[in-house]
Amino acid sequence: GMPSSASTGLSPRRVSRQVVVGDVPVGGSAPVSVQSMTTTLTADIDATLQQIAELTAAGCQIARVAVPSADDAAALPTIAKKSQIPVIADIHFQPKYVFAAIDAGCGAVRVNPGNIKKFDDKVGDIAKAASDAGVPIRIGVNAGSLDRRLLAKYGKATPEALVESALWECSLFEEHGFDDIKISVKHHDPMVMISAYRQLAQACDYPLHLGVTEAGPPPQGTAKSAVAFGALLSEGIGDTLRVSLSAPPVEEVTTGILILEALGLRERRLEIVSCPSCGRAQVDVYRLTEEVTAAFAGFPVPLRVAVMGCVVNGPGEAREADIGVSCGNGKGQIFVKGEVIRTVPESKIVETLLEEAIALTSETIGA
Ligand code: SF4
Repeated sequence: GMPSSASTGLSPRRVSRQVVVGDVPVGGSAPVSVQSMTTTLTADIDATLQQIAELTAAGCQIARVAVPSADDAAALPTIAKKSQIPVIADIHFQPKYVFAAIDAGCGAVRVNPGNIKKFDDKVGDIAKAASDAGVPIRIGVNAGSLDRRLLAKYGKATPEALVESALWECSLFEEHGFDDIKISVKHHDPMVMISAYRQLAQACDYPLHLGVTEAGPPPQGTAKSAVAFGALLSEGIGDTLRVSLSAPPVEEVTTGILILEALGLRERRLEIVSCPSCGRAQVDVYRLTEEVTAAFAGFPVPLRVAVMGCVVNGPGEAREADIGVSCGNGKGQIFVKGEVIRTVPESKIVETLLEEAIALTSETIGA
């Protein structure tokens, strides 16, 4: 199990109800899940399934696909059936695609209250179809497509406007007895987004999907998402997340997982504790770190590996790691669990670390 909030320093998790997207529980005590969205034409079934497979391999747990056209809606049954992870259909304007997505076996449907004026008189039918099929609805409010009524009322997409939009849309579904809902209130400004989610967390017990929308390319988008998710998750707010990057979606998944790992909400896989290098360095720290990272990629057991450029802080930091090296005079002192066990020439550092790591973990990996 994961460390308790007491030991991680995070606030206790907000108590949210749970929805189930395909076979992935979201909210309640379920671990925070990582989502992404495909960039292929959804109607191109092979390309979309190929990208979902890549996302799945990277650790993505839920994949969202855009459904702007009838051809995209027609592709949903095959995509939902063949995807290894639940598929969420993202629908903005066409209520009939919502029914198609539910019939297709999608894990959930995302609708945007700002763009679904036409949905109002269809909410009862959507609620019934979703309820009969056990398919949750995500109410996904975006600053950029805020309901015009609320834009007029608040002047711009304030946190209050985003929250009011989401709760208003929820109330339409609640009127029909439907509450199998999760919510997002995304904004490109992490501080506005944080405020909106805080208010939403107070106002309801629906599970929350975190996202900074249009966060931009990495590293800007990465930094914005890390700040926003870090603040909210450390307050116990957030049940699933998507990092939005102007970059291939696999990078969104990797970033989302790293943010959860950094918060202690996921067990770390490989952690490289490498120094930033400085004028004392007696080795090319960047190059060595790259080589070590590459050598340990996919290592089957969680491991903390230290790479230190000199012996000043080297041994101290390396001692905190499962295994590590501190460099000097063309050599590397290899540490295992805090003990220097060997000193090897620089050219042998990477292979020695790998050998020692395998020896150290051989019981766990059954080698
Ligand atoms: Fe500089 Fe040595 Fe610290 Fe690396 S470990 S940053 S080289 S003092």
